[in-house]
Amino acid sequence: MTPVTALEGKPVAVFGLGGSGLVSAQALALGGARVIVWDDNEHAREKARAAGLRIENLAAADWRGLEALVLSPGVPLTHPAPHWTVVKAREVGCEVIGDIELFCRERAATAPGSRFVAITGTNGKSTTTALVAHLYRSFGFPTEVGGNIGTPILALEPPSEHRVHVIECSSFQIDLAPSLAPSAGILLNVTPDHLDRHGTMESYAAIKARLVAKADHAVIGVDDDISARIAADLAASGRSVTRVSVTNTSIADGIVRDGTSLVRRAGGQARSIADLAGIGSLRGAHNAQNAAAAVAALGSLAEDLPRLQAALRSFPGLAHRLEEVGRDGKVLFVNDSKATNADAAEKALLSFDQIFWILGGRAKAGGIEPLRPLFPRIARGFLIGEAAEAFAATIGKEFPYEFCGTLEEAVPRAAAQASASGLDQPVVLLSPACASFDQFPDFEKRGDRFRALVQSLLEQSIRRPRA
Ligand code: ADP
Repeated sequence: MTPVTALEGKPVAVFGLGGSGLVSAQALALGGARVIVWDDNEHAREKARAAGLRIENLAAADWRGLEALVLSPGVPLTHPAPHWTVVKAREVGCEVIGDIELFCRERAATAPGSRFVAITGTNGKSTTTALVAHLYRSFGFPTEVGGNIGTPILALEPPSEHRVHVIECSSFQIDLAPSLAPSAGILLNVTPDHLDRHGTMESYAAIKARLVAKADHAVIGVDDDISARIAADLAASGRSVTRVSVTNTSIADGIVRDGTSLVRRAGGQARSIADLAGIGSLRGAHNAQNAAAAVAALGSLAEDLPRLQAALRSFPGLAHRLEEVGRDGKVLFVNDSKATNADAAEKALLSFDQIFWILGGRAKAGGIEPLRPLFPRIARGFLIGEAAEAFAATIGKEFPYEFCGTLEEAVPRAAAQASASGLDQPVVLLSPACASFDQFPDFEKRGDRFRALVQSLLEQSIRRPRA
């Protein structure tokens, strides 16, 4: 844990005692702050009490004199309306901050020169965070990884000159971290998302821009207009910016994708620095963007090209995101359960050509209509869940499909069809383009079930004598 000493001796309120809120309260208490905590949920309060924290109903508390309100990122700061705790804090001039801000203050006080890579973007945050951490570890650095992915930032080891922190930041966390100034800041992309929580696209983009605004070194994916503008503004203000592109090989300074290669362009020169061919965990243009950004964040370490190539090759990838879960003869099985909407499923469909596609669940607005241009890549569809009828109507006669109802039914059927297809690279792909909630508690459970079903098929296949 990272003790937060910046508020030593000061009265601080923590609201929202989920994973990161509870840790924030503990880290503040450890650093000597006078902490009071509250959560509307009785169970969360019990946990905090068991951890020795002082519970106080903030609705009834006297807010005067409070130094700071530490808010969970799940609690609305601005949209659709500021939470009542935020209103109360503003009334008495108490600042409202989050756990990343507490970490930044601790780092500024104790290890300002330490390596701290912060990552944001609408898509690809978790993959890039995991990859940056993997690269640093492969280069021999003790590395702490967390934030919006996995471990809350303050549950990690404290910042130090010998340690790298690789931190995924959601826009909600950035909004609560006014002094965020990482050694390297990665902004992958900005596309419409979470507008219910940020109001307009402008304010969403402005929050994302803050992650790179004060970074010693900014890495920005410039393939969308908003990120490109952020990069241009930052470079114009004289800051260090590396641009990343997977659609434009001619940008002047940065890292671009050219075929399967990552190419560094600088001072009119272009040099291939890594090859992503055959790296299953980094398939697809979207992952090339993630990889290019991760490599850019390494700075001069990435000059060791053999080591870089080996490190990229050994990246295991993240579960449920184009995760290879098995192979039976020519048939590859891929778990992309994280694809809960058409946008994410598009990335998966773009990554393969001979697809036996398991799709369906609880449909999102727009369904799979946006994926129509990719239908020629589908050999056969296997429909599951609530969305089956509606998706069948969209598919029409574009490719053959069958109604399977459940994953249990779909996996063996898709495997049998793929195996009998005679195609040279058939892929059984779970990329549902739907939420999982009609049949599973979450996308992880759905992906776990897919993996288990594939594994049991593969075991049967090993036991079965081949003709
Ligand atoms: P996040 O943490 O931002 O949700 P993930 O790394 O978990 O991102 O990836 C989630 C999904 O987003 C992936 O399954 C893929 O479909 C898509 N994705 C990943 N990286 C990118 C990217 N750079 N650009 C666009 N989409 C991406």
